[in-house]
Amino acid sequence: MTPGTGTMKIRAHHLLCVLGFYGLGYNKEFVKKMRQVTRRLKTKPALPIEVLNSCDEICAVCPHQKNNRCKKGEYSYKRVKETDQKVLSALEIKNGDVFSGSEILRLIRKKIGSFPELVKICGMCGWRETCTYYILLRKKWHKTRRA
Ligand code: SF4
Ligand code: SF4
Repeated sequence: MTPGTGTMKIRAHHLLCVLGFYGLGYNKEFVKKMRQVTRRLKTKPALPIEVLNSCDEICAVCPHQKNNRCKKGEYSYKRVKETDQKVLSALEIKNGDVFSGSEILRLIRKKIGSFPELVKICGMCGWRETCTYYILLRKKWHKTRRA
């Protein structure tokens, strides 16, 4: 697909965070934006999504974003870019590629649909114990190990 005016730009690792969003965030504006993006992604299967390795509309309202860079911590700019790159590599896509919402969700569930795959990307993310995608995949993984 080619990007158009209605294209939603989203940084790669945020695609996963959106799947695990449970209503928490850095402030009210951030939560409102996450809710909006989550709803669009989940309810508009034909919506064009451009996958980025840089700041998106979620970062735009984040209190940690300064001059279009993630400044959450000293090394955040580099670290979040690396996380985005891990997602791009796992999905076998490139920065700037465009998919429909349903295509990108299908791809994520196929390529990053297990806990070991997700852990390689999320590492020690501080939100993991409130992230429903992380918790769900971990629960499934524990079940298969007990079976
Ligand atoms: S654990 Fe963190 S980085 Fe991973 S999907 Fe959840 S919120 Fe995003
Ligand atoms: S600026 Fe950093 S902490 Fe804020 S949403 Fe973007 S990547 Fe996440």
